[in-house]
Amino acid sequence: MDKTNGHDLPILIAGGGIGGLAAAHALSRKGFRVRVLEQAAEFREIGAGIQLSPNIFAAAERLGLKDALLADAWQPSGMEMRCALSGDLVTRLPLEAEFVARFRQPYAVSHRADIHGAFLKACHDSNLVSLETSQRVDSFEEEGGGVTAILDGGERVQGRALIGCDGMWSNTREKIIGDGPPRVSGHIAYRAVLKRAEVPEDLWRPDVVLWAGPRTHFVHYPLRRGELYNLVAVFHSDRYEEGWNTEADPSELWKHFSGQRPEVLRLLERIETWRMWVLCDREPVKNWSQGRITLLGDAAHPMLQYLAQGACQATEDAVVLAEKVAEQPEDLAAAFKAYEEARYLRTGRVQIMARVYGEFYHARGVTAELRNIMLGARTPQQAYDGIAWLYAGG
Ligand SMILES: Cc1cc2nc3c(=O)[nH]c(=O)nc-3n(C[C@H](O)[C@H](O)[C@H](O)COP(=O)(O)OP(=O)(O)OC[C@H]3O[C@@H](n4cnc5c(N)ncnc54)[C@H](O)[C@@H]3O)c2cc1C
Repeated sequence: MDKTNGHDLPILIAGGGIGGLAAAHALSRKGFRVRVLEQAAEFREIGAGIQLSPNIFAAAERLGLKDALLADAWQPSGMEMRCALSGDLVTRLPLEAEFVARFRQPYAVSHRADIHGAFLKACHDSNLVSLETSQRVDSFEEEGGGVTAILDGGERVQGRALIGCDGMWSNTREKIIGDGPPRVSGHIAYRAVLKRAEVPEDLWRPDVVLWAGPRTHFVHYPLRRGELYNLVAVFHSDRYEEGWNTEADPSELWKHFSGQRPEVLRLLERIETWRMWVLCDREPVKNWSQGRITLLGDAAHPMLQYLAQGACQATEDAVVLAEKVAEQPEDLAAAFKAYEEARYLRTGRVQIMARVYGEFYHARGVTAELRNIMLGARTPQQAYDGIAWLYAGG
């Protein structure tokens, strides 16, 4: 095969997060030359956990990376919801043989840096991918048969096309869709990662555990082959700050969690430094491709993390995008439209359903009672049926 698919100019990718690297790798596997322009001084991810549902493994299998994603991951035996006030088990989803038989892929939890690292290594291993740091894409122009990305220093980079993988606050999106800043959900997340030895033995659990409280929830699970423990505490707040990594004020957290179960409070007490991020998303849209420019991942469909799907959907995007581009490499505008057409309803559904799950987790009073009755009455098979649209789709 002609290793550049017959074209001199590379496809440009703005942003080297999980979405950008997955897209670069997927396109390189189809023989396309790619330049990834990342604004940061290095390619890296923040230290936090990430949940990986069967649909990301189905996508990763098509990219030849399933084993790499699983290498350092933890495979929990179940996912359970408990009441943060009574401690009662609300529902438990088994994630072992029965689950794998149903979805043909496992469920895993991992460190974000390990997932990002697996995509980064795959890109490094390809001579069709150029990885470039300290390159912030400010703007672009589409002209003739190509696109020019304009960097913040004024440098102009020529490409056949541009894929905006520049995340929640995407510059590329602003120029294509122009829907302003993201929607602030009113929820804020505090996160921390502990070493296993720092977790009291009686509180360490192999499962993904979610403690649902009134207008709060708290999730924990092991990471990196079980050596680390990921904690995320979410509560309602009107604060707004951009970014994923601001140092957080613990007193705000305690106001929301006081009165909850000792298992919750004892784990929260272990944390010395919390990092926080304000949870944002956007309304689903469909016109995220314009000529030879398109969007992928959070730039296209930013979602709340309540279904743990941001990275999963970005990886699915990458697979579909590369397939559509390979089907019509001579007409990238049509290929980008076909990719958008194939993806917007599914990603829009995840955006909407993630909000619904957030309401469920934070329910109070009668709503919480009803939730517990409804979820508690389901068999594992019924629970699998309820989530099959997501885990078995894509
Ligand atoms: C703490 C946390 C926990 C999460 N947990 C989960 C989970 O459990 N499961 C899950 O599936 N998802 C989770 N997500 C979401 C998920 O990580 C993202 O949705 C996913 O990684 C897709 O990201 P992305 O590549 O589209 O954007 P990002 O990861 O935001 O990457 C965007 C990249 O673009 C770069 N960039 C931005 N602007 C420019 C520019 N103008 N020019 C050049 N480069 C630019 C940024 O520096 C960054 O590297 C979580 C997110 C966070 C923050």
